[in-house]
This record gives sequence, C-alpha cells and structure tokens, in this order.
Amino acid sequence: MAAGEPDFAGRLLAWFDVHGRHDLPWQSPRSAYRVWLSEVMLQQTQVATVIPYFERFLARFPDFTALAAADIDEVLALWAGLGYYARARNLHAAAKQVASRHRGEMPNDLEAVQALPGVGRSTAAAILAQAYGARHAILDGNVKRVLARHAAVPGWPGEPKVAARLWAVSERLLPQTRLADYTQAIMDLGATLCTARAPACERCPVADDCVARRDERVAEFPASKPAKARPFRQAQLLVIENADGDLLIERRPPSGIWGGLWSLPVLDPGIEPAAAVRDRYGLAVRKLGGLQPFRHAFTHFELELTPQRLRLVTDVGAAVHEQPDQRWLNMRRDPLPGLPAPVLQFLLRQRAVDAPAAPAPSPTSPNAHPDPCPEPSTASSSAPKRKASTARPSPATSASGSSNMSPSRHGAAGSRTRRA
Ligand code: SF4
Repeated sequence: MAAGEPDFAGRLLAWFDVHGRHDLPWQSPRSAYRVWLSEVMLQQTQVATVIPYFERFLARFPDFTALAAADIDEVLALWAGLGYYARARNLHAAAKQVASRHRGEMPNDLEAVQALPGVGRSTAAAILAQAYGARHAILDGNVKRVLARHAAVPGWPGEPKVAARLWAVSERLLPQTRLADYTQAIMDLGATLCTARAPACERCPVADDCVARRDERVAEFPASKPAKARPFRQAQLLVIENADGDLLIERRPPSGIWGGLWSLPVLDPGIEPAAAVRDRYGLAVRKLGGLQPFRHAFTHFELELTPQRLRLVTDVGAAVHEQPDQRWLNMRRDPLPGLPAPVLQFLLRQRAVDAPAAPAPSPTSPNAHPDPCPEPSTASSSAPKRKASTARPSPATSASGSSNMSPSRHGAAGSRTRRA
C-alpha cells in the first residue's frame, strides 16, 4: 500500500459501499433486537437459509417482550429445520433475561450482552457494533480467515494463543467511525471474496498488503485443526462352536457400537474366555486356541479383535430352547442375519480356511453391514432358524465379561462412528 492511500478499514469500507450486502432484512430497520436475532441465527448457518426463518420469527415475535412471553415449544417449532436447537433455547432464555433485567432493551454494554445465554464475545461485539455503532472488534469464522491470511498468523485459530493474536489484529484494524458498516464489511469480505476455497484475491480491496497473498501462501492460512491420534482398543471375539460346527451369535444391545446387530460375542481383553462363557451362557467349553487378530477402524478409535476359538464340551443340540437374542448360526445352511461388516468378513475368511473347496460368497453380501455402528438392521430379522443354546443369560453375570465395546463405555463415540 502506497503512502497516503486509505488504511485497511478505509479500503474495506469503500469496497463495501459498492459491493457489500445492503439489503439484508435485519439491516433496515436496524434494531438491537433484529441484529441480535440475526446474529444468533447466523451462527453455524448461512445467510440464505436464515432469511425466511428470520422473517417468520420476527412476524410472530416482534421484540424481546413478545419472545420472552412465548411458550418454548412455539419457539422451537418456528426454529424447526434450522438445526442446533440449543440456539433456540438460548434465544428464549436470553429474551427473558433482557425482559426481566434490562426492561426489554438490549444493554449497550459488552459484558452485559456477553452474559446473555448463547452470546459469545464476537457475537456480543457484532450486536453492539451494528445496533449501536459501538467500537468493538469481532472475530467470527469468516473474520478469522481474513485476518489469518492478511496478517499471515500461523496456527489453528482454535488455539487460545492463536485466537489472542487474531483478536489483537482485529482490534488494531478497527476504524474510528462507521463501525456498523465496517463490521458488516469484514464479514462480507470473508463470505464473498476471502472464501475458504478459491479466494478471489484479484478483486480483494485489501490485497495490496495481504501477507499471505504476497508470499503466495494463501492456502496455508488459517491452519487446520491438528488431527488427534485415534485411541486404540482391544477385545476378544468368541468363536464358540457346537458339535455340528454351528457358531453361537447374540444380538447386541440396541444402542452403542453395532447396536441391534447380531454378532459373535465380544469380551474384554484379559478375561479368560472359557470362564466368561460359563458365567455368561452357562456353557462348558474348552479352548481350541487364538486366531490371528484383526483390526477395524472406527471414526473415534481403532479396535483390534482377537478371535478365540472355543468348542462345547458336550453336545447341547437336544437341549436347545428359544432365546430371542442368542442363536446358533450355521454358516453353510442358515440365512445370514445382519452382522457388522468386520465380523462377517472374519466369518467368511474362516469358512474359506475351513473348507477351501467351497465357493466363497461375495464379501459384499447384503448381510454385510458396512456401517460399523448402524441403527438396528432390518436384515437382522432374517436370523438363522436354528434355535438357541442352553444359554441361561444372567444379567448379573453377563455384565462381568462385557466387552469394552459396550454402550456404557462407548455410547457416544459409537453413535458417531464412520458411515461407509
Ligand atoms: S488478498 Fe486474498 S487472501 Fe488476502 S485478504 Fe484478500 S481475498 Fe483474502
């Protein structure tokens, strides 16, 4: 930038006057209520999506007092489809606070606004700058990207030290006047030109002193969130065979990893399998030995399963009785139930090893559940027709050997595992 040329804010405002967004519904008439409503709605959501919701909301709840008096169910109903419903609950709670503590008017005080539910530092600053022209810096996602590039601030903005540097840059660039326009302008720049992918630097009003552009390093800023190492867990997979070569399978609990699917029993590492089978199913087995462990990657952890081959000591075929959640599966005769993909693939590999001459079915069988943690599968209704073992599951004893894949240990992570 040559001496005498407008500073960052001056160039940005000149660009905004021509190219900025001036027709957003919360810009005219501009009020603290309308600005606050739009700022909360715009968290995590794009302008085009927000506009019809904003207009419906405003028609029904024209001010803080009306929103504070509303039933939360009506607020949530008007919010339906916008997602992140905590925002709607916070909106309602904040309106009640404004009505009761600030006489229905948004206070012109950064700390007081930040104290409202769902309002962070940047949102509070944006509300006050746009509603009252107050001189406060903002740092939302778009602004972080612009400033990280313009000042070449290294590091992931989620790191407190990096965020502190970006806040300092944002404050340093603030103009003395036109704060409402400047706040909208820097948000517009991030949303329309300095975009995450393919920024339009050739049209950017602050390109002349943009360090990332000068150094041809735009793609490096802002840095991505560092990847976390995926935790590693282990479990035993119990391959319990009866005299006919059938395998004991059980239905997993409805929630958590592989919820509702049929599977070979899974056991925590370090527990003696034969004792666990006796305690959990009332079956006497002898151990034939461990098989080659194999791994399966979930989104939040990697699981190593060590198959343990076990043989029933006595033939219990004559004593079988129905057990809705435990069955004997004959891999050659029975229709396969909905099995987790890694378990099915293991069973198919085993069948090929045990009888190499037999034609191997495709691993893409409809029974292979590709999702490592799906909802209960309708395929599981095609469970094998053979009846269950002499199993007498006891809630007390079955918990003793429960695998580390149990919902109680993995519930949240399991519910977010990768979908293939
Ligand atoms: S020059 Fe490019 S990278 Fe730099 S602020 Fe402008 S659009 Fe962003």
